[in-house]
Amino acid sequence: MNIMMLTWLAFSFNVLFANPALETLVRREGSISTIIKKNEMTDLLDHHSFDGKYFKIVLKKSNDAISFYDPDKNLVLKAASVYYHLNKSREFWIKAMQYTKIQEMPKITVRLELTNQFDEFGHFANDNRSPQFNNALSIPSGQTPDWVPSERSDRWNNEIWFRPVKKILTKDLGNLGPNPMTVALQALQNPLIDYIQNQFNVRLMEEFFYPSYVNRPLHEDLIRYAGTYALMKLILHGSKYADRLFLDKYYYLDAAFVPEIAYHEFAHIILSDRLEMSHSTPVNEGMADYFAAVQSRTRKIYAKVKGHSNSRYKDREEKKKYSHWDEATRLATSDFTLSVLWDVREALGDTYGDKVVFHARHFLNTKSSTISEGLLKAILYACEEKCEYPRRDKLILYETFSKKGF
Ligand SMILES: [Zn+2]
Repeated sequence: MNIMMLTWLAFSFNVLFANPALETLVRREGSISTIIKKNEMTDLLDHHSFDGKYFKIVLKKSNDAISFYDPDKNLVLKAASVYYHLNKSREFWIKAMQYTKIQEMPKITVRLELTNQFDEFGHFANDNRSPQFNNALSIPSGQTPDWVPSERSDRWNNEIWFRPVKKILTKDLGNLGPNPMTVALQALQNPLIDYIQNQFNVRLMEEFFYPSYVNRPLHEDLIRYAGTYALMKLILHGSKYADRLFLDKYYYLDAAFVPEIAYHEFAHIILSDRLEMSHSTPVNEGMADYFAAVQSRTRKIYAKVKGHSNSRYKDREEKKKYSHWDEATRLATSDFTLSVLWDVREALGDTYGDKVVFHARHFLNTKSSTISEGLLKAILYACEEKCEYPRRDKLILYETFSKKGF
């Protein structure tokens, strides 16, 4: 065989069998700034669409994978980014966390641009029922019950849904009764600060993001909204950040372009062997945030992505001390729990910290675990079983928690 032929063979082999490399949106290593970079699409079933061994990326309610050649270039970039980050996250759980049970997990369908709410009896709620934007959620596997007409019968595995981005005029917030700026400023001087803030958040959630949920049972609507913490945080932190919000003309979050949101949603699926995906509590969200932060390796996660999101970040080193309002379900979007768990990592070191936090899920309850009791206790129990020197390390943790105001 001559050299030409060998070259040709090698070339054909590459074309036929090498993983295709596509443009993806990633954060620069160790930084929150983003770049477009070619990355390999691993474990694909074919070489022309986002259908892989572990993840299939589809548009809205479709069951067909998005094609690499879809004329919508932004959609292809989005699908490639999500596919890349989810496979990377899977690698993390296998290699860094040694989580072998992941091999038994069924393939996950990832839906982009889907506005439908989740309906546990029908998969997708009606199209016209309060369409959702600017967030993401993970949904548990399920199937329609027998009484559902066969044309509508459906069965699905775990899925991750990314909502389309929608620019919302921030000035519309002004219609929600008291001016948020005033509330935030008052809050700085008023000892009733927590009460006012909490009331305001409730109004914000109900009237602004989910205007129709006042009349409906809450359970479906409260499932894992990743997109609202930006606004929630602003209020929690008073006028310093509120200024910033009202300087931005629009609020928007294209969740599929924020790498840590993919890590966060996938973490919910991994943790769902103990923490069901049907509930969003400060503890459940903090656990998913923790693993998103570990994978992102930057102090701030969910930070702005130019042109795609102007959301506020969450800070793993948030310095706030505990207050009982941190337990409110609607504060599941704050970064307080993340900062508590991050302190565990700092105290025990990366390896033991990650092991202990992950193991803690065995001592947590999906619906009722609080931070001050449930989570702290779970961490100490987990340490008993996973720490290097449990007696010493539990004392260290105890100290850490008291510094955090517990
Ligand atoms: Zn979440």
